[in-house]
Amino acid sequence: MPKDPLAEVLGRYEAVIGLEVHTEITATNTKMFCGCPVAFGGEPNTRVCPVCLGLPGALPVPNEAAIEWTVLAGLATNCDIALWSQFHRKQYFYPDMPKDYQISQYDLPFCSGGSVEVEVDDHRTSIGITRIHLEEDTGKMVHVGGSEGRIAGATHSLVDFNRAGTPLMELVTEPDIRTPEEARRFAQKLRSVWLALGVSDCNMEEGSMRVDANVSVRPRGATELGTKSEVKNMNSFKSLHDALAYEIVRQAEVLDAGGEVVQETRHWDAGAKRTSALRSKEEAHDYRYFPEPDMVPFSFDPAWIEQVAARLPELPDARRDRYVADFGLPKHDAGALADDVAFACFFDEAVAIAGSDRAKQVSNWMLGELAALLNAEAVEVADSHVTPAMLAELIGLVEDGTISGKQAKEVFGEMAATGDAPGAIVEARGMKQVSDTGAIEAVVDAVLAANPTEVANYRAGKAGLIGWFVGQVMREMHGQGSPAVVNEVLKRRLDG
Ligand SMILES: [Zn+2]
Repeated sequence: MPKDPLAEVLGRYEAVIGLEVHTEITATNTKMFCGCPVAFGGEPNTRVCPVCLGLPGALPVPNEAAIEWTVLAGLATNCDIALWSQFHRKQYFYPDMPKDYQISQYDLPFCSGGSVEVEVDDHRTSIGITRIHLEEDTGKMVHVGGSEGRIAGATHSLVDFNRAGTPLMELVTEPDIRTPEEARRFAQKLRSVWLALGVSDCNMEEGSMRVDANVSVRPRGATELGTKSEVKNMNSFKSLHDALAYEIVRQAEVLDAGGEVVQETRHWDAGAKRTSALRSKEEAHDYRYFPEPDMVPFSFDPAWIEQVAARLPELPDARRDRYVADFGLPKHDAGALADDVAFACFFDEAVAIAGSDRAKQVSNWMLGELAALLNAEAVEVADSHVTPAMLAELIGLVEDGTISGKQAKEVFGEMAATGDAPGAIVEARGMKQVSDTGAIEAVVDAVLAANPTEVANYRAGKAGLIGWFVGQVMREMHGQGSPAVVNEVLKRRLDG
Protein backbone atom coordinates (compact mmCIF):
# COMPACT_ATOMS: atom_id res chain seq x y z
CA MET A 1 0.00 0.00 0.00
CA PRO A 2 1.40 3.46 -0.87
CA LYS A 3 2.37 5.77 1.98
CA ASP A 4 -0.42 8.25 1.28
CA PRO A 5 -3.17 6.21 -0.45
CA LEU A 6 -5.35 9.30 -0.99
CA ALA A 7 -2.61 11.23 -2.82
CA GLU A 8 -1.82 8.18 -4.93
CA VAL A 9 -5.51 7.67 -5.83
CA LEU A 10 -6.05 11.38 -6.56
CA GLY A 11 -3.16 11.19 -9.01
CA ARG A 12 -5.19 8.76 -11.14
CA TYR A 13 -8.78 9.59 -10.25
CA GLU A 14 -10.69 12.81 -9.82
CA ALA A 15 -13.09 12.94 -6.88
CA VAL A 16 -16.41 14.73 -7.33
CA ILE A 17 -17.95 15.81 -4.04
CA GLY A 18 -21.16 17.62 -3.16
CA LEU A 19 -22.27 18.41 0.38
CA GLU A 20 -25.63 18.62 2.12
CA VAL A 21 -25.44 20.71 5.24
CA HIS A 22 -28.32 20.69 7.71
CA THR A 23 -28.31 23.55 10.19
CA GLU A 24 -30.84 23.99 12.97
CA ILE A 25 -31.97 27.59 13.24
CA THR A 26 -31.32 28.03 16.95
CA ALA A 27 -31.79 31.81 16.72
CA THR A 28 -35.57 31.47 16.74
CA ASN A 29 -37.39 31.03 20.04
CA THR A 30 -39.95 28.62 18.67
CA LYS A 31 -40.25 25.60 16.40
CA MET A 32 -41.00 25.77 12.67
CA PHE A 33 -44.75 25.19 12.73
CA CYS A 34 -45.80 25.55 16.38
CA GLY A 35 -45.03 27.62 19.48
CA CYS A 36 -42.89 25.04 21.31
CA PRO A 37 -39.48 26.40 22.41
CA VAL A 38 -36.27 25.51 20.53
CA ALA A 39 -33.53 24.23 22.84
CA PHE A 40 -31.06 21.36 23.14
CA GLY A 41 -31.59 18.36 25.43
CA GLY A 42 -33.81 18.65 28.49
CA GLU A 43 -36.25 16.15 29.99
CA PRO A 44 -37.56 14.05 27.05
CA ASN A 45 -40.93 15.00 25.52
CA THR A 46 -41.35 18.20 27.54
CA ARG A 47 -41.25 20.62 24.56
CA VAL A 48 -44.06 19.15 22.50
CA CYS A 49 -47.62 20.01 21.44
CA PRO A 50 -50.27 18.51 19.12
CA VAL A 51 -48.60 20.11 16.05
CA CYS A 52 -45.07 18.77 16.54
CA LEU A 53 -46.45 15.45 17.78
CA GLY A 54 -48.42 15.15 14.53
CA LEU A 55 -51.74 14.62 16.29
CA PRO A 56 -54.81 14.44 14.02
CA GLY A 57 -56.35 17.80 13.21
CA ALA A 58 -53.40 19.93 14.37
CA LEU A 59 -52.50 22.60 11.82
CA PRO A 60 -49.03 24.03 11.14
CA VAL A 61 -48.39 27.81 11.26
CA PRO A 62 -45.09 28.84 9.61
CA ASN A 63 -42.47 30.59 11.75
CA GLU A 64 -41.83 33.93 10.03
CA ALA A 65 -38.53 34.52 11.82
CA ALA A 66 -37.17 31.16 10.61
CA ILE A 67 -38.02 32.11 7.01
CA GLU A 68 -36.26 35.45 7.50
CA TRP A 69 -33.15 33.72 8.87
CA THR A 70 -33.13 31.39 5.86
CA VAL A 71 -33.39 34.32 3.46
CA LEU A 72 -30.56 36.05 5.35
CA ALA A 73 -28.44 32.88 5.05
CA GLY A 74 -29.19 32.81 1.33
CA LEU A 75 -28.16 36.44 0.90
CA ALA A 76 -24.91 35.77 2.82
CA THR A 77 -24.07 32.95 0.38
CA ASN A 78 -24.86 34.95 -2.76
CA CYS A 79 -28.12 33.13 -3.49
CA ASP A 80 -31.12 34.39 -5.43
CA ILE A 81 -34.15 34.68 -3.17
CA ALA A 82 -37.39 33.27 -4.52
CA LEU A 83 -40.28 35.71 -4.87
CA TRP A 84 -42.68 32.77 -4.91
CA SER A 85 -42.19 29.69 -2.77
CA GLN A 86 -44.00 26.96 -0.91
CA PHE A 87 -43.64 23.97 1.39
CA HIS A 88 -44.04 20.37 0.21
CA ARG A 89 -44.70 17.12 2.03
CA LYS A 90 -41.94 14.55 1.81
CA GLN A 91 -43.32 11.11 2.62
CA TYR A 92 -41.16 8.66 4.45
CA PHE A 93 -41.25 6.73 7.66
CA TYR A 94 -39.02 7.24 10.66
CA PRO A 95 -40.14 6.27 14.15
CA ASP A 96 -39.00 9.72 15.37
CA MET A 97 -41.12 11.56 12.79
CA PRO A 98 -44.69 11.29 14.09
CA LYS A 99 -46.56 12.54 11.00
CA ASP A 100 -44.80 9.99 8.75
CA TYR A 101 -44.04 12.88 6.44
CA GLN A 102 -41.74 15.84 6.79
CA ILE A 103 -42.76 19.34 5.80
CA SER A 104 -39.91 20.37 3.53
CA GLN A 105 -39.42 22.17 0.22
CA TYR A 106 -39.16 20.62 -3.22
CA ASP A 107 -38.97 22.57 -6.47
CA LEU A 108 -39.43 26.05 -4.98
CA PRO A 109 -36.77 26.50 -2.27
CA PHE A 110 -36.41 29.92 -0.62
CA CYS A 111 -32.84 30.35 -1.90
CA SER A 112 -30.96 29.04 -4.96
CA GLY A 113 -27.94 29.62 -7.20
CA GLY A 114 -25.39 30.91 -4.68
CA SER A 115 -21.66 30.44 -4.13
CA VAL A 116 -19.06 30.39 -1.38
CA GLU A 117 -15.32 30.86 -1.91
CA VAL A 118 -12.83 28.60 -0.19
CA GLU A 119 -9.06 28.66 -0.20
CA VAL A 120 -6.73 25.69 0.07
CA ASP A 121 -2.98 26.41 -0.11
CA ASP A 122 -3.62 29.85 -1.64
CA HIS A 123 -5.75 28.26 -4.35
CA ARG A 124 -9.17 29.89 -4.34
CA THR A 125 -12.22 27.94 -5.56
CA SER A 126 -15.82 29.01 -5.84
CA ILE A 127 -18.21 26.29 -4.64
CA GLY A 128 -21.70 26.61 -6.12
CA ILE A 129 -24.73 26.52 -3.81
CA THR A 130 -27.60 24.76 -5.56
CA ARG A 131 -30.22 25.66 -2.99
CA ILE A 132 -31.07 26.38 0.61
CA HIS A 133 -34.46 25.20 1.73
CA LEU A 134 -36.27 25.13 5.02
CA GLU A 135 -37.81 22.08 6.68
CA GLU A 136 -38.59 20.66 10.10
CA ASP A 137 -36.19 18.50 12.07
CA THR A 138 -37.17 15.05 13.31
CA GLY A 139 -37.19 13.88 16.93
CA LYS A 140 -34.52 11.63 18.34
CA MET A 141 -34.32 7.90 19.01
CA VAL A 142 -32.68 6.83 22.25
CA HIS A 143 -31.43 3.24 22.02
CA VAL A 144 -31.16 1.53 25.39
CA GLY A 145 -28.93 -1.37 26.31
CA GLY A 146 -26.41 -1.14 23.45
CA SER A 147 -22.95 0.40 23.59
CA GLU A 148 -22.66 4.20 23.19
CA GLY A 149 -26.38 4.56 22.51
CA ARG A 150 -26.09 2.70 19.19
CA ILE A 151 -28.96 0.59 17.94
CA ALA A 152 -26.70 -2.48 17.61
CA GLY A 153 -27.12 -4.56 20.75
CA ALA A 154 -29.92 -2.37 22.13
CA THR A 155 -32.78 -4.09 23.96
CA HIS A 156 -35.33 -1.38 23.23
CA SER A 157 -35.63 2.17 21.86
CA LEU A 158 -37.34 5.28 23.18
CA VAL A 159 -38.45 8.35 21.25
CA ASP A 160 -37.84 11.94 22.35
CA PHE A 161 -39.84 14.48 20.32
CA ASN A 162 -38.27 17.61 21.86
CA ARG A 163 -36.31 18.23 18.65
CA ALA A 164 -39.22 17.40 16.33
CA GLY A 165 -40.25 20.49 14.41
CA THR A 166 -37.07 22.52 15.03
CA PRO A 167 -36.49 24.78 11.98
CA LEU A 168 -33.83 23.15 9.84
CA MET A 169 -32.05 24.76 6.87
CA GLU A 170 -30.74 22.35 4.28
CA LEU A 171 -28.01 23.70 2.03
CA VAL A 172 -27.02 21.64 -1.01
CA THR A 173 -23.85 22.41 -2.96
CA GLU A 174 -23.07 21.79 -6.58
CA PRO A 175 -20.63 18.86 -7.10
CA ASP A 176 -17.79 21.41 -7.27
CA ILE A 177 -15.59 20.03 -4.51
CA ARG A 178 -12.57 17.94 -5.53
CA THR A 179 -10.72 16.99 -2.35
CA PRO A 180 -11.51 16.12 1.28
CA GLU A 181 -9.58 19.24 2.34
CA GLU A 182 -11.75 21.47 0.13
CA ALA A 183 -14.83 19.86 1.67
CA ARG A 184 -13.52 20.54 5.16
CA ARG A 185 -12.70 24.19 4.31
CA PHE A 186 -16.13 24.67 2.78
CA ALA A 187 -17.90 23.33 5.87
CA GLN A 188 -15.71 25.47 8.14
CA LYS A 189 -16.35 28.55 6.03
CA LEU A 190 -20.08 27.91 6.08
CA ARG A 191 -20.01 27.54 9.85
CA SER A 192 -18.12 30.82 10.23
CA VAL A 193 -20.68 32.58 8.01
CA TRP A 194 -23.64 31.10 9.94
CA LEU A 195 -22.01 32.14 13.24
CA ALA A 196 -21.39 35.67 11.92
CA LEU A 197 -25.09 35.87 11.01
CA GLY A 198 -26.09 34.40 14.38
CA VAL A 199 -28.55 32.02 12.70
CA SER A 200 -27.36 28.96 14.62
CA ASP A 201 -24.93 27.89 17.32
CA CYS A 202 -23.61 25.36 14.73
CA ASN A 203 -22.71 22.89 17.46
CA MET A 204 -21.69 19.79 15.53
CA GLU A 205 -21.50 17.56 18.62
CA GLU A 206 -25.05 18.46 19.61
CA GLY A 207 -26.14 18.01 16.00
CA SER A 208 -27.22 21.58 15.29
CA MET A 209 -24.95 21.48 12.21
CA ARG A 210 -24.74 18.18 10.32
CA VAL A 211 -22.86 17.49 7.10
CA ASP A 212 -23.57 14.66 4.65
CA ALA A 213 -21.45 14.14 1.55
CA ASN A 214 -22.06 12.71 -1.90
CA VAL A 215 -18.85 11.43 -3.44
CA SER A 216 -17.87 9.65 -6.63
CA VAL A 217 -14.61 9.14 -8.49
CA ARG A 218 -13.81 9.08 -12.19
CA PRO A 219 -10.56 8.48 -14.08
CA ARG A 220 -8.61 11.72 -14.62
CA GLY A 221 -9.71 13.26 -17.91
CA ALA A 222 -13.12 11.55 -17.94
CA THR A 223 -16.17 13.81 -18.23
CA GLU A 224 -18.86 11.32 -17.25
CA LEU A 225 -19.64 11.17 -13.54
CA GLY A 226 -18.99 7.97 -11.60
CA THR A 227 -21.59 6.32 -9.36
CA LYS A 228 -21.79 8.15 -6.05
CA SER A 229 -22.28 7.08 -2.50
CA GLU A 230 -23.70 9.25 0.24
CA VAL A 231 -21.74 9.34 3.48
CA LYS A 232 -23.50 10.20 6.75
CA ASN A 233 -22.75 10.56 10.42
CA MET A 234 -19.73 12.88 10.33
CA ASN A 235 -20.01 14.96 13.49
CA SER A 236 -16.79 16.96 13.16
CA PHE A 237 -14.78 18.62 10.40
CA LYS A 238 -12.09 15.99 10.88
CA SER A 239 -14.65 13.20 10.43
CA LEU A 240 -15.87 14.85 7.23
CA HIS A 241 -12.32 14.95 5.87
CA ASP A 242 -11.41 11.43 6.99
CA ALA A 243 -14.67 9.85 5.81
CA LEU A 244 -14.24 11.36 2.34
CA ALA A 245 -10.59 10.32 2.16
CA TYR A 246 -11.58 6.77 3.11
CA GLU A 247 -14.48 6.66 0.67
CA ILE A 248 -12.44 8.00 -2.29
CA VAL A 249 -9.78 5.34 -1.75
CA ARG A 250 -12.45 2.62 -1.26
CA GLN A 251 -14.23 3.51 -4.52
CA ALA A 252 -10.93 3.65 -6.44
CA GLU A 253 -10.04 0.19 -5.14
CA VAL A 254 -13.42 -1.16 -6.29
CA LEU A 255 -12.83 0.29 -9.78
CA ASP A 256 -9.19 -0.85 -9.87
CA ALA A 257 -10.38 -4.40 -9.16
CA GLY A 258 -12.75 -4.18 -12.13
CA GLY A 259 -15.85 -3.82 -9.94
CA GLU A 260 -18.68 -1.30 -9.91
CA VAL A 261 -19.46 1.23 -7.21
CA VAL A 262 -22.96 0.73 -5.81
CA GLN A 263 -25.17 3.76 -5.24
CA GLU A 264 -25.90 3.60 -1.54
CA THR A 265 -25.89 5.45 1.74
CA ARG A 266 -22.88 4.67 3.92
CA HIS A 267 -22.29 5.27 7.59
CA TRP A 268 -18.97 6.72 8.85
CA ASP A 269 -17.65 4.96 11.92
CA ALA A 270 -15.15 7.41 13.42
CA GLY A 271 -13.83 4.79 15.85
CA ALA A 272 -13.12 2.14 13.21
CA LYS A 273 -12.18 4.86 10.64
CA ARG A 274 -14.26 3.28 7.89
CA THR A 275 -17.61 3.62 6.13
CA SER A 276 -20.11 0.77 5.88
CA ALA A 277 -23.23 0.31 3.75
CA LEU A 278 -26.41 1.54 5.47
CA ARG A 279 -29.09 1.27 2.78
CA SER A 280 -29.54 1.68 -0.94
CA LYS A 281 -30.23 5.30 -1.80
CA GLU A 282 -33.78 6.50 -2.39
CA GLU A 283 -34.63 8.59 -5.44
CA ALA A 284 -36.57 11.83 -5.13
CA HIS A 285 -39.68 10.24 -6.69
CA ASP A 286 -39.77 7.66 -3.88
CA TYR A 287 -40.77 10.45 -1.51
CA ARG A 288 -44.01 11.33 -3.36
CA TYR A 289 -43.59 15.06 -2.80
CA PHE A 290 -46.74 17.13 -3.06
CA PRO A 291 -47.57 20.73 -2.07
CA GLU A 292 -48.35 21.03 1.65
CA PRO A 293 -52.15 21.47 1.66
CA ASP A 294 -52.26 23.00 5.15
CA MET A 295 -50.32 26.12 4.16
CA VAL A 296 -50.73 28.68 1.41
CA PRO A 297 -47.70 29.44 -0.82
CA PHE A 298 -45.53 32.49 -0.08
CA SER A 299 -45.20 35.59 -2.19
CA PHE A 300 -42.27 37.81 -1.16
CA ASP A 301 -42.11 41.53 -1.78
CA PRO A 302 -38.66 42.59 -3.09
CA ALA A 303 -38.80 45.46 -0.58
CA TRP A 304 -39.05 42.92 2.25
CA ILE A 305 -35.98 41.07 0.89
CA GLU A 306 -34.17 44.44 0.89
CA GLN A 307 -35.10 44.87 4.55
CA VAL A 308 -33.68 41.46 5.38
CA ALA A 309 -30.53 42.29 3.39
CA ALA A 310 -30.05 45.39 5.54
CA ARG A 311 -29.52 43.04 8.51
CA LEU A 312 -26.45 41.42 6.89
CA PRO A 313 -23.44 41.89 9.17
CA GLU A 314 -19.83 42.09 8.00
CA LEU A 315 -19.01 38.56 6.78
CA PRO A 316 -15.74 36.73 7.52
CA ASP A 317 -14.07 37.28 4.12
CA ALA A 318 -14.80 41.02 4.16
CA ARG A 319 -13.57 41.23 7.73
CA ARG A 320 -10.33 39.43 6.86
CA ASP A 321 -9.71 41.80 3.94
CA ARG A 322 -10.37 44.79 6.20
CA TYR A 323 -7.84 43.56 8.77
CA VAL A 324 -5.23 43.19 6.04
CA ALA A 325 -5.98 46.62 4.51
CA ASP A 326 -6.44 48.63 7.72
CA PHE A 327 -3.92 47.04 10.07
CA GLY A 328 -1.43 45.37 7.72
CA LEU A 329 -1.99 41.98 9.35
CA PRO A 330 -0.68 38.94 7.47
CA LYS A 331 -3.57 37.36 5.53
CA HIS A 332 -3.36 34.10 7.45
CA ASP A 333 -3.60 35.88 10.82
CA ALA A 334 -6.41 38.13 9.59
CA GLY A 335 -8.32 35.06 8.40
CA ALA A 336 -7.82 33.21 11.67
CA LEU A 337 -9.30 36.16 13.58
CA ALA A 338 -12.13 36.89 11.13
CA ASP A 339 -13.35 33.29 10.79
CA ASP A 340 -14.43 33.17 14.42
CA VAL A 341 -16.96 35.92 14.99
CA ALA A 342 -16.49 35.95 18.78
CA PHE A 343 -12.72 36.25 18.32
CA ALA A 344 -13.14 38.95 15.67
CA CYS A 345 -15.41 41.03 17.93
CA PHE A 346 -12.88 40.66 20.77
CA PHE A 347 -10.14 41.84 18.40
CA ASP A 348 -12.16 44.84 17.19
CA GLU A 349 -12.90 45.89 20.75
CA ALA A 350 -9.30 45.47 21.95
CA VAL A 351 -7.96 47.46 18.98
CA ALA A 352 -10.52 50.21 19.60
CA ILE A 353 -9.08 50.58 23.12
CA ALA A 354 -5.38 49.94 22.41
CA GLY A 355 -5.26 51.99 19.18
CA SER A 356 -4.95 50.71 15.64
CA ASP A 357 -1.15 51.09 15.72
CA ARG A 358 -1.18 48.24 18.25
CA ALA A 359 -3.44 45.95 16.17
CA LYS A 360 -0.50 43.70 15.32
CA GLN A 361 0.31 43.19 19.02
CA VAL A 362 -3.37 42.50 19.79
CA SER A 363 -3.46 39.92 16.98
CA ASN A 364 -0.23 38.26 18.17
CA TRP A 365 -1.47 37.97 21.76
CA MET A 366 -4.84 36.63 20.65
CA LEU A 367 -3.52 34.04 18.19
CA GLY A 368 -0.70 33.10 20.57
CA GLU A 369 -1.29 33.16 24.33
CA LEU A 370 -5.07 33.67 24.30
CA ALA A 371 -5.81 30.97 21.70
CA ALA A 372 -3.53 28.51 23.53
CA LEU A 373 -5.26 29.26 26.81
CA LEU A 374 -8.78 28.83 25.38
CA ASN A 375 -7.70 25.64 23.68
CA ALA A 376 -6.12 24.20 26.82
CA GLU A 377 -9.14 25.01 28.96
CA ALA A 378 -11.68 24.26 26.20
CA VAL A 379 -13.56 27.51 26.83
CA GLU A 380 -15.01 30.13 24.50
CA VAL A 381 -13.43 33.57 24.48
CA ALA A 382 -16.61 35.05 25.99
CA ASP A 383 -16.27 32.71 28.98
CA SER A 384 -12.62 33.47 29.72
CA HIS A 385 -11.46 35.97 32.36
CA VAL A 386 -9.53 37.92 29.74
CA THR A 387 -11.42 40.92 28.34
CA PRO A 388 -10.47 43.16 25.40
CA ALA A 389 -9.80 46.02 27.85
CA MET A 390 -7.42 43.86 29.92
CA LEU A 391 -5.47 42.75 26.85
CA ALA A 392 -5.23 46.36 25.63
CA GLU A 393 -3.97 47.45 29.06
CA LEU A 394 -1.37 44.66 29.14
CA ILE A 395 -0.06 45.65 25.70
CA GLY A 396 0.11 49.27 26.88
CA LEU A 397 2.26 48.25 29.88
CA VAL A 398 4.76 46.53 27.55
CA GLU A 399 4.77 49.35 25.01
CA ASP A 400 5.47 52.07 27.60
CA GLY A 401 8.29 50.01 29.11
CA THR A 402 6.62 49.37 32.48
CA ILE A 403 7.13 45.62 32.11
CA SER A 404 9.16 43.45 29.76
CA GLY A 405 7.66 41.05 27.24
CA LYS A 406 8.67 38.17 29.48
CA GLN A 407 6.95 39.69 32.49
CA ALA A 408 3.88 40.36 30.35
CA LYS A 409 3.46 36.60 29.81
CA GLU A 410 3.46 36.08 33.58
CA VAL A 411 0.90 38.85 34.02
CA PHE A 412 -1.23 37.33 31.25
CA GLY A 413 -1.21 33.97 33.01
CA GLU A 414 -2.33 35.54 36.26
CA MET A 415 -5.03 37.74 34.74
CA ALA A 416 -6.38 34.73 32.84
CA ALA A 417 -6.53 32.75 36.08
CA THR A 418 -7.90 35.47 38.37
CA GLY A 419 -9.54 38.10 36.18
CA ASP A 420 -7.47 40.81 37.93
CA ALA A 421 -6.46 43.83 35.85
CA PRO A 422 -2.87 43.74 34.57
CA GLY A 423 -1.97 47.08 36.22
CA ALA A 424 -3.08 45.73 39.61
CA ILE A 425 -1.09 42.51 39.10
CA VAL A 426 2.06 44.46 38.20
CA GLU A 427 1.57 46.64 41.29
CA ALA A 428 0.87 43.73 43.65
CA ARG A 429 3.85 41.72 42.43
CA GLY A 430 6.20 44.69 42.44
CA MET A 431 7.00 43.81 38.86
CA LYS A 432 7.55 47.29 37.59
CA GLN A 433 10.49 47.27 35.28
CA VAL A 434 13.28 49.60 36.43
CA SER A 435 14.09 52.02 33.63
CA ASP A 436 15.76 54.58 35.87
CA THR A 437 19.22 54.99 34.29
CA GLY A 438 20.86 56.05 37.55
CA ALA A 439 19.75 52.92 39.39
CA ILE A 440 20.83 50.69 36.53
CA GLU A 441 24.21 52.41 36.22
CA ALA A 442 24.92 51.67 39.89
CA VAL A 443 24.25 47.95 39.39
CA VAL A 444 26.22 47.83 36.13
CA ASP A 445 29.23 49.46 37.82
CA ALA A 446 29.10 46.97 40.67
CA VAL A 447 28.91 44.00 38.25
CA LEU A 448 31.84 45.29 36.16
CA ALA A 449 33.95 45.91 39.28
CA ALA A 450 33.29 42.36 40.51
CA ASN A 451 34.29 40.73 37.21
CA PRO A 452 37.53 42.31 35.95
CA THR A 453 38.60 39.20 33.96
CA GLU A 454 35.40 39.16 31.91
CA VAL A 455 35.71 42.92 31.35
CA ALA A 456 39.24 42.44 30.02
CA ASN A 457 38.14 39.52 27.80
CA TYR A 458 35.26 41.59 26.40
CA ARG A 459 37.55 44.50 25.64
CA ALA A 460 40.02 42.06 24.02
CA GLY A 461 37.34 41.18 21.47
CA LYS A 462 34.97 38.64 23.08
CA ALA A 463 31.89 40.68 22.15
CA GLY A 464 29.58 37.75 22.89
CA LEU A 465 30.17 38.31 26.62
CA ILE A 466 27.66 41.17 26.50
CA GLY A 467 24.84 38.65 26.97
CA TRP A 468 26.54 37.26 30.08
CA PHE A 469 26.88 40.79 31.55
CA VAL A 470 23.18 41.48 30.85
CA GLY A 471 22.32 38.25 32.67
CA GLN A 472 24.44 39.25 35.71
CA VAL A 473 22.83 42.70 35.92
CA MET A 474 19.31 41.27 35.52
CA ARG A 475 20.00 38.75 38.27
CA GLU A 476 21.10 41.51 40.63
CA MET A 477 17.92 43.41 39.77
CA HIS A 478 15.67 40.35 40.18
CA GLY A 479 14.70 40.54 36.53
CA GLN A 480 13.19 43.99 36.84
CA GLY A 481 15.71 46.02 34.88
CA SER A 482 14.59 47.30 31.51
CA PRO A 483 16.55 45.13 29.05
CA ALA A 484 16.88 48.05 26.65
CA VAL A 485 18.36 50.39 29.28
CA VAL A 486 20.62 47.67 30.77
CA ASN A 487 22.04 46.96 27.30
CA GLU A 488 22.55 50.61 26.56
CA VAL A 489 24.34 51.32 29.88
CA LEU A 490 26.55 48.21 29.63
CA LYS A 491 27.67 49.08 26.10
CA ARG A 492 28.38 52.68 27.08
CA ARG A 493 30.48 51.56 30.09
CA LEU A 494 32.32 48.69 28.36
CA ASP A 495 32.95 50.37 25.01
CA GLY A 496 33.53 53.86 26.39
ZN1 LIG B 1 -45.00 21.91 19.23
